[in-house]
Amino acid sequence: MEIMRVIRDEARNLGIEVLEFSPAVELLTDNGRVTGALLWNMETNQYYVIRAKAVILATGGFGRLHIQGYPTTNHYGATADGLVMAYRVGARLRDMDSVQYHPTGAAYPEQIVGLLVTEKVRGLGAQPVNREGEAFVHPLEPRDVEAAAIIRECYERRLGIETPTGMVGVWLDTPMIEEIHGKGTIESKLSAMYRMYSRFGIDMTQDPILVFPTLHYQNGGMVVWR
Ligand SMILES: Cc1cc2nc3c(=O)[nH]c(=O)nc-3n(C[C@H](O)[C@H](O)[C@H](O)COP(=O)(O)OP(=O)(O)OC[C@H]3O[C@@H](n4cnc5c(N)ncnc54)[C@H](O)[C@@H]3O)c2cc1C
Repeated sequence: MEIMRVIRDEARNLGIEVLEFSPAVELLTDNGRVTGALLWNMETNQYYVIRAKAVILATGGFGRLHIQGYPTTNHYGATADGLVMAYRVGARLRDMDSVQYHPTGAAYPEQIVGLLVTEKVRGLGAQPVNREGEAFVHPLEPRDVEAAAIIRECYERRLGIETPTGMVGVWLDTPMIEEIHGKGTIESKLSAMYRMYSRFGIDMTQDPILVFPTLHYQNGGMVVWR
């Protein structure tokens, strides 16, 4: 938020015009050099040709493509636009298969599938357990190890729990947090999450929550030369 605030203030101070609701849809080139972009105004349906000496791509990741059907923590704009536009004008992409799954995204209820269940929850003592109530992984493994263990538990050992919409996840034993740290810990230390689940009638202090890995971060992208 702080980075955004500084950039926005600076843009305003310099009088830089900002076009909202107008995503870039294509880069324009002249003799192999990028010379601007085509923007589409989503409100008026007009297209703008913007000429530029330099074009900076900062369009984020691609979680919202839901590759292999994975849920994601990413915002709805994370649809790889920049990568596609860059590729079309000849840029090289690399390590596109190198993505990070956060081990614990919400798997239930449907309205919050993919949203982040922060590491703090496991840090405070919530243990992932399968449908038999067995702990199958240490709660504080690195993200890739923890995520892989949860996926194996659900799809290889078939010991996950199916939600009403057919998604499979494992329990994250949140009541254990209060057993370890005392009553009221969840409400004071995980207040936003407590409120989020309460809205759906789920009391994290009494019941475990269902989680499954969620696509969180993309390591690859466009190759940039100096
Ligand atoms: C839930 C969550 C928690 C995270 N927590 C942390 C953390 O604790 N610490 C940390 O370091 N990182 C964290 N990250 C990662 C971090 O937020 C991202 O790495 C970072 O925001 C990426 O910045 P970005 O500018 O590349 O992309 P983004 O922040 O995704 O910004 C891309 C922007 O481009 C816009 N855009 C997309 N397509 C177009 C288009 N065609 N035309 C015009 N605009 C377009 C989008 O609307 C968006 O505003 C977290 C990420 C998530 C999802």
